Amino acid sequence: MASYQKLPLPALKRIALVAHDNKKIEMLDWAKFNRETLKQHKLFGTGTTAALIEKKLDLPITKLESGPLGGDLQIGSRIAEGLIDFLVFFWDPLEPLPHDPDIKALLRLAVVWNIPVACNRTTADFIISSPLMDTYYDRIVVDFHSYRQRSVPSSPDNLEDSI
Ligand code: PGA
Repeated sequence: MASYQKLPLPALKRIALVAHDNKKIEMLDWAKFNRETLKQHKLFGTGTTAALIEKKLDLPITKLESGPLGGDLQIGSRIAEGLIDFLVFFWDPLEPLPHDPDIKALLRLAVVWNIPVACNRTTADFIISSPLMDTYYDRIVVDFHSYRQRSVPSSPDNLEDSI
């Protein structure tokens, strides 16, 4: 049976903002409406999304690489390291994109590490207006200790046997 661990989501949230090109206006409009709340937290974003938020809304934001150039994966790796607490990811459901595997990887890691993810504006509204935005929260995550300790075939003898 799986065991679980509690991992912190701090009161001051580290929020990642990502919007595909057809969703950038929606992201800007949402961020404008929620500017005062967002200002109280720490923002990160993929390159173009973050640049627009900085320029149009005058919000401080850490700009990572543009999504198709690795920005989605940079956010994913920060999630795995416990450095992102909330992902707002307005992805485009009507257009295939060259970095579809990265999009899937980012969404997968958000689920693996059980952080809140908003993929549309309504969900983003519900989450940002939650009282949990401003308080410490224990997210419950599978304790991956036994997964890390699992035994895998690693003996050279096994290798010879299978050739
Ligand atoms: P962008 O990347 O903010 O650099 O446009 C978003 C994405 O396509 O993942």
